Amino acid sequence: MRRFLSFLLALAMTVSLAACGEKEAPPPEVPAAPADDCVPPAISSAELPPEPEPEPEPYEILDPTVPREGYVAYEGVVEHLFFHPIVAYPELAFDGDYKSDGIDDWMVTVGEYVKILESLYEKGYILVDIMDCWSETTNENGETRMAKNTLYLPEGKKPLILSYDDVNYYEYMLTNGFTHKLILGEDGKLWSYGLDGAGNEVISRDLDAVTVLDKFVEDHPDFSPFGAKGCLSLTGYEGILGYRTQTMAEDQSPEREAFRQSEIEAVKPIVAELKRTGWTFGSHTWGHISLNTRTYETVTADMEKWFNEVGSLVGDTSVLFYPFGGRLDGDDVKQSGPAFTWMQSQGFRIFCSVGIDSWSKCKGDISAVICDRLHPDGTTLRSSKGRERYMRFYDAADIIDLEARPEREVGWLTA
Ligand SMILES: [Zn+2]
Repeated sequence: MRRFLSFLLALAMTVSLAACGEKEAPPPEVPAAPADDCVPPAISSAELPPEPEPEPEPYEILDPTVPREGYVAYEGVVEHLFFHPIVAYPELAFDGDYKSDGIDDWMVTVGEYVKILESLYEKGYILVDIMDCWSETTNENGETRMAKNTLYLPEGKKPLILSYDDVNYYEYMLTNGFTHKLILGEDGKLWSYGLDGAGNEVISRDLDAVTVLDKFVEDHPDFSPFGAKGCLSLTGYEGILGYRTQTMAEDQSPEREAFRQSEIEAVKPIVAELKRTGWTFGSHTWGHISLNTRTYETVTADMEKWFNEVGSLVGDTSVLFYPFGGRLDGDDVKQSGPAFTWMQSQGFRIFCSVGIDSWSKCKGDISAVICDRLHPDGTTLRSSKGRERYMRFYDAADIIDLEARPEREVGWLTA
């Protein structure tokens, strides 16, 4: 219907212009305003019936800290796994170029990702939002401190946080087997846009970590009884979610700024739909900087850029994901250094690194929780230790796609 109406409109305009006789009618596919001296086309867009916006399917987000009938209190470890963008086209990712080994180390393929989700589901994990796992409380001395929440879960279920680093669709990824951006489909749902190996445009819900999880939760609503999905960890230096919303020191032209503004407008409905359907956002710094080695001045200047260019689009967040796992001031366990304290003053409460288990600690000296995340990827799928450590989530032998991945060592095969 939409296409037919556009066609009618184009046709009406063409006919109307042609009738004026003085100016050549533009080809129908080129949108053009009628010439000044022309009578406006008989059918104007104002007269068209309003296009029915696809009614978004209702999506409910619930608070797991509220006791519910039949749900039981859970006080144990909340597991936390994180992914990088997933490989949509292994043949492009693992083509032997200089990026291949890095992608093999730090990413999983879409097939592996689906198998991991299926295993997590089978093993009784359910998704919870990272922001629901701790709360700020006031102690007897009147000081605010973070405290772990009691979660009320369906009996026998285990809580799981998912986070996703670098959901920016970096330029290098576009030619290395990843999707290019998230878009809204005509059904109102999130889809990915990208190019396959032959250069064909592909719009899909089966190739991107976000849309695959969306679909998985649609098919298995009991995997997310509270509606939680994952926390998207964003840098800013190449924009967000596939939209080039960043400022560029090397190009401050009006053209670039106009394009940037159009990208900002384009990403807003994507952010809104993600939030509406259970996704949350965290900071990964603007420039993906190593927080353990950079000076206080560098860190704060970088983060100001993040607030201006990313926070302004995704809203306030209390979650900071350390790039490269590098802890603020070189250490955030024994101390709360100047950069850590500054970050906390900016509203961050949950500080995530990377580690060998889902360790977390509510700090005693400041209102903040520091935690580690596990990382399903090539390094942990290939190593014997990794296979052992992740056995509570999945068996790497059932997951790893050795046909798609480069020929490199698999610890538990050669041992
Ligand atoms: Zn990162």
